Formats: sequence, structure tokens, C-alpha cells
Amino acid sequence: MGVVLRNALVIDTDPVVILPGTDVLVSDGRIAAVGQGLTAKTVIDCTDRIVLPGFVDTHRHLWQGLVRSFCADMSLGEYLEHLLWPAQRVLTPDDLEIGTLAGGLECLASGITTVLDYSFSPTFEHAEAAISGLRTSGVRALFGYGEPVEAPLVPDDVRRAVGLAGGTVELALAPLGPSFSDMAVVEETWELARSLGLRVMVHIAGHEQPMSALRERGLLHSEITFVHGNGLPDDELKLVAEAGAGVSIAPALEARMGHGAPMVCRTRGFGVLTGLGTDTVTAVAGDMFSLMRATLASAFLSGGQVTPADVLRMATVEGAAAAGLADRIGSLAVGKHADLVVLRANDINLVGTHDPVAAVVTAAHPGNVEKVFVGGVEMRRQEVAGAVRDAAASLADRLRAA
Ligand SMILES: [Zn+2]
Repeated sequence: MGVVLRNALVIDTDPVVILPGTDVLVSDGRIAAVGQGLTAKTVIDCTDRIVLPGFVDTHRHLWQGLVRSFCADMSLGEYLEHLLWPAQRVLTPDDLEIGTLAGGLECLASGITTVLDYSFSPTFEHAEAAISGLRTSGVRALFGYGEPVEAPLVPDDVRRAVGLAGGTVELALAPLGPSFSDMAVVEETWELARSLGLRVMVHIAGHEQPMSALRERGLLHSEITFVHGNGLPDDELKLVAEAGAGVSIAPALEARMGHGAPMVCRTRGFGVLTGLGTDTVTAVAGDMFSLMRATLASAFLSGGQVTPADVLRMATVEGAAAAGLADRIGSLAVGKHADLVVLRANDINLVGTHDPVAAVVTAAHPGNVEKVFVGGVEMRRQEVAGAVRDAAASLADRLRAA
């Protein structure tokens, strides 16, 4: 029974270890064993291959695959004015389905096997369509039912959406939160999440005291993934750490759109669980290799230093912890979902390395990804380019008219 990936250079993440000539046994979609001399009905030869846990993208708006590079030269304010607010008026469920499918496939192509999809859900039908796109793509997802800017969440719709979750798609709530709505609304949405057992994922703008405001109301807890937060004072970050909540930083996008000084050493310095997020392919690349390099490049500017092993952990098991998923994914621990990436270690940009972890973080790219498994199932390429191209053109026309 099962599948064995044989004779790989295995990199595990908790802790980061390099295991040459090692087999990974998968059974019933889970990691069954990591070692040598393992056997199974199906054997995949992984000689000259690196096998590691799938990457976890802790913040991404998947539908924005339809507006790729739309905001490449825009500031955050211009992105909101020229893309996000108009898009909220014209996005249809069909847009969300094909855009989310495209985004999910793009994740898998670079070895991202789990994504926190911060979606946009003005109606139940939008959420239903986006979740359909996620399921067709095959990527594992925490789907954030997104609060629109111009209308409140409809609690009954969120309750219906709970019925759409299961298998590789879990439901979360993605409200506007304390930086973008008043605290009475925040209290209602947090209570809705609590009553349904949903994690909260929420954008945070810095230069305020959102954590103090949440804590005063008993709303700061471990079931939250905060996004960005550049510029939060030290005391606010300490509150996040004390609560056991996670933070998703998006170093490439934050640098590109000017969110503020890099965060990686500040969050980790206070013991905050820190994951990496793409955020939006309207302005930056959507692969985890780019994101890991942006993290390394920005670390010095955030007041400290990180190693490639630290960055790999943020891209896998620490990101999973920041998303509340560390008991299920992020490492090769026996019993976790068999979400795996197989890289060709003999490609010219990786061969002969003296440090495989550093090579993955500093030198690898999506072209090195040979196979990707989600729950032990190998993800196959899907030909959707024509449909994505048509949908992207249609959405651009409607955005210009909005
Ligand atoms: Zn975002």
C-alpha cells in the first residue's frame, strides 16, 4: 500500500535537517515514515531530487490572478483606488471562480501546497464560486470569507458557507477589522467567527494601536492571523506574541508598495509566529522562491538577521503555525498531510551545492519543481490558459468602465 519517494535528499523543517539518501513513505494521504529501506506498492525514484514539505502562503488574494501586474507601478493608495474598490463593484462569481482557480494552480506550480486565500465575498454565491475554483485547483486552502467594503457581512450567508468546507478547504473569516471598520462592527464579526469556530485573518495598518483595542474587548486571541502591521509599535507586537496569534508578512509587496519598514526581525524578535505571504500578484511575483528571497533581502533592514533555515521555516512550518495549521502541515512529521514538493537537484542552478537549504532559499525557482503532492495526491497540470486570458480581458474592460 502507499507510495514511497525513494532515495531523495530530504529536507525537513521542524527542526531544519538535511537527510541524504532518504525515503518518504506516504499512506492514506499522510506521512507514514521518513527513513531508509522503506517499501510500498508504488515507488517513485527521487535520486538527484530534493523532497521537502510543501510551502505555506499565509496571505494571498487568489482571484487577483486575473489582474496580474495591473498595479506594478502603483502605491498602496492607488491600488485601492484604481483596482480594489472598483473591483468590488464589478467582480462576479464567475470571475472569482476562474481567478481563484488560476491562483491556486499558480501556487501549486511553485510548490505552495497550502494558501490562506483572503477572498471577497459580497454574497454567498461569490464564496461558493471561489471555493469551487479552489477545489478544482487542488491546492489546500484556508478560505477567508471576505467582508466587502461597501456592505456588511451577512451572517446567515457565512453560516451557509460553513457547509462548503471540508477536505482540503477549510473556512475562515476575513473581516475588515480594527484598522478599517469601527469597533462595534469588529465585535460583531469576531463573535460570528467565534460562534462558528472560524479563524480570523485580517489586514492591519500600522501607526495605530489595534492590538490594544482588541485586547481591551477580549478579542485578541490565538485564532487570528494578522497581515502586514508594518510600523506597529513594539508594545503592540508584544501583545500579539502573548496572545499566540500569527502574523503574515509580505516582504516583496510591502517593499514595493511602501507599507513601511520590513518586519521579519521585529515580529520574530518578540516571539510572534511569522509566516510569509505573496499578497497580490498585481504587483509582485506569486511564487514562494521569490518571497523567500525578498525575506532574506529585507532582514537586515528590519534590525536583525535571519538564516536560510529561518526563512525556510517561515515558508513552511512556522507559516503553518501562524495560520493555526501546524498540527496538520508544514513538516514531515508522521501523521501530517503528505503535502510534498520534489525539486530537481541536478538542474544547473542547484547542482553541486554545499548547502541544500541555502540553495532552496537563495537559488531555486519554480522551474525546478518536478512534482507536487497534496494529501499524497500528485497534482497534475491543468490547461486553463485560454479561459483565464478571456476572463482577465473581460474583467479589465469592466474595471475601466467602473
Ligand atoms: Zn492583502
